[in-house]
Amino acid sequence: MTRAGAERDPSLSDAVRAEARRIGFDLVGITPSVTPIGFHRLRRWIQRGFAGEMSYLPQRESRYESPQGVLDGTRSVIMLAVNYRTAEPADVGSSYGRVSRYAWGSGDYHDHLRNRLRKLADMLHREKPGCRTRGVVDTAPLLERDFAVLAGLGWFGKNTMLIHRRMGSWLFLAALLTDLELEYDQPHSSSHCGTCTRCLDACPTGAFPEPWVLDARKCISYLNIELRDRPIPREHRGEIGDWLFGCDVCQEVCPWNRKAPVSALIEFQPQPDLTPADCVQLLRMDEQRFHARFGQTPLSRPGRRGILRNAAIVLGNTGTQAAVPTLRRALADTEPLVRGASAWALGEIGGRSAIEALRARLETEPDKTVRAEIHDALRTKSRA
Ligand code: SF4
Ligand code: SF4
Repeated sequence: MTRAGAERDPSLSDAVRAEARRIGFDLVGITPSVTPIGFHRLRRWIQRGFAGEMSYLPQRESRYESPQGVLDGTRSVIMLAVNYRTAEPADVGSSYGRVSRYAWGSGDYHDHLRNRLRKLADMLHREKPGCRTRGVVDTAPLLERDFAVLAGLGWFGKNTMLIHRRMGSWLFLAALLTDLELEYDQPHSSSHCGTCTRCLDACPTGAFPEPWVLDARKCISYLNIELRDRPIPREHRGEIGDWLFGCDVCQEVCPWNRKAPVSALIEFQPQPDLTPADCVQLLRMDEQRFHARFGQTPLSRPGRRGILRNAAIVLGNTGTQAAVPTLRRALADTEPLVRGASAWALGEIGGRSAIEALRARLETEPDKTVRAEIHDALRTKSRA
């Protein structure tokens, strides 16, 4: 709704769209500041406990009701997307772990998107001095996918991702909020999932209790990224397979991604040590080396101990005998989380060397959680 006295400015809206494309956004759409339908869905989702340990979601639940919770006085939300699909993954060797596609590039995509958002905001400030803007990439309480649908960028797929007919779902989303009145795009009112259920059927952990609803507690991307300070629940370790960081299965199987264009942007091109990642090498990284290599990348979210825990889980799942010396060494890591996961992996791989290492560690291990992992690992082998 247009405020009394405020005029929507079609020429400025067109200029925003043109500038967004010029600075590298693949999709742009503009929507008014409203309460998104997804807000009520979010509430129910939190009530059902699907957010798991992501306590920041219930803590700031009410702020998702309106973009006003992010920028007071917001009238327009400019939704933007950048395609990050690049080359397909290499074949995964037995000691290698897969990394979710969004993290393949150099640096952190948040920084790349923020740079672009800053340029778009600069343009608005030049055109309308005194206007207010705020750029958002992931971290603010804004239901970006809902606003992307409202801005006409695509539909909300059964896998809960935003999907665009031509670009698929390998999209980074960003938003620029402003107190300016702009000319709005039509919402995307249709869904093109039809009777397809590929994503729901392919999920390794059965994380979709129903279409369009994700139980984050079962999602691999939650287990190996967000659950960073605790062991991964035993019942999900095997399902994680060779996913070291995140999981892309429900997007990889989506037919709308088959013909998605490939990005030539240099910052998104796959880094060789992430496509896939050598779990043995990772397990040998100390804090300093980890920070130097991954400190400015999405892998810093779970941090060294989270990533090394995940590397041990992958090695346990792939049953890599050649990894036993590294896992034995990791039994003495400074982090109990890494020691516990290494004990589990040694139990899965088995063999005399692994069993000897587990028994020896039990003599000196001070942490009771790790001791329990070692006991379980030894029991696993005695059952085998
Ligand atoms: Fe399932 Fe993986 Fe998709 Fe999570 S990311 S819902 S685990 S397929
Ligand atoms: Fe929709 Fe099928 Fe893609 Fe799932 S895999 S999001 S059901 S089109």
